Amino acid sequence: MSAIPKPPVPGPLNPSRRLLLGPGPSDVHPRVLAAMGMPLVGHLDPEFVAMMDETQDLLRYAFQTTNRMTLAVSGTGSAGMETVIVNLIEPGDRMLVCVNGVFGGRMVDVAERAGAQVTAIERPYGEVFDPEEVRAAVKKVNPKLVGIVHAETSTGAWQPVEEIARIAHEAGALIAIDTVTALAGIPVEIDAWEIDAVYSGTQKCLSCPPGLAPVSLGPRAVEVLERRKAKVQSWYLDLSMIQRYWGSDRFYHHTAPISMNYALREALAIVAEEGLEARFARHALNGRALHEGLAAMGLSLLTDPKHRLPQLTCVKIPDGVDDLTVRRRLLKDWGIEVGGGLGPFKGQAWRIGLMGYGSRQSSVTLLLSALETCLRDLGVSVPPGEGIRAAAAVYSEAAK
Ligand SMILES: *Cc1c(COP(=O)(O)O)cnc(C)c1O
Repeated sequence: MSAIPKPPVPGPLNPSRRLLLGPGPSDVHPRVLAAMGMPLVGHLDPEFVAMMDETQDLLRYAFQTTNRMTLAVSGTGSAGMETVIVNLIEPGDRMLVCVNGVFGGRMVDVAERAGAQVTAIERPYGEVFDPEEVRAAVKKVNPKLVGIVHAETSTGAWQPVEEIARIAHEAGALIAIDTVTALAGIPVEIDAWEIDAVYSGTQKCLSCPPGLAPVSLGPRAVEVLERRKAKVQSWYLDLSMIQRYWGSDRFYHHTAPISMNYALREALAIVAEEGLEARFARHALNGRALHEGLAAMGLSLLTDPKHRLPQLTCVKIPDGVDDLTVRRRLLKDWGIEVGGGLGPFKGQAWRIGLMGYGSRQSSVTLLLSALETCLRDLGVSVPPGEGIRAAAAVYSEAAK
């Protein structure tokens, strides 16, 4: 007789169909979901190995790079962040981190745990860094590595990074960028911008479930990795070993999560099929329609208008409206998920994601209509139909 009694046995899993318009995970493409249900092959099966090669080529296209070391780390976006940092940082190394939201803050924490001497420079939530202030900090700190977030999901801010990469290089430092929310939603040009290290995640604009972290290291970063004195502090995330599995050795390191790799391969194939330019244009259009729609409803956006992401919009919650009341109703009555605010935006903002497969006209229209109904029911004065009308005008203008 077992000491632990059997718990109530649930029936077959049957999650509701949602429209995921939050900061991630985003709506998954049906082809990606179907890929995950396909039969497993072994992680060293010739078919799987061929698929990994396809994935690497497709990732190089998505990142716009020829970097040989381009692969998917097993783990979510944060594992990608940790991979880049633990492989490039040795205890005592100086790192400069630009913090204008939650994910820059996380980078500081990860780098400190890896033993870096971290200097953080800060910008208020919703703003971006001016290259000149980064230049001044780089001069003062003389870091080995500069870290910055390209698309800050906690605020919706779009940080230009090309000039900052140049500043890092002029001072002999490496640059690492976080493209978890950027990749496949806005242009990411790893080679043209000379980015040394980049990581991403699968559940934002790639429209895959969470579980893998695409990572790419350029020649300068690979050299730093090869010249390390100390072993990489994390066995699991040591790129020199992981690369031997993704490279021609096919050396066993850990068992690749097969189904997740199917999903990523399929998601990247969909990205390539659509083409990056068309994909960015689609994200830009839907983002613009949402922004116009929200503005026409009398709502205000919290991010600097010159640096607003199309795939993540931070909108101010109207005075007197309770954050959770609205989000719960959106979920219950329309099956729509949007995100709450983080950090100083907690309770002050909603975060609306239009990422990957979720970035489409029907998402924008349904969300605007549902939000209008919710707010009007709560007594907020929202001009009826204006949000949808403004969004529709953006679409018909674009169709001309
Ligand atoms: C989501 C996100 C992360 C963290 O990714 P997880 O998959 O949640 O671990 C890191 N950086 C940015 C910019 C993100 O949006």
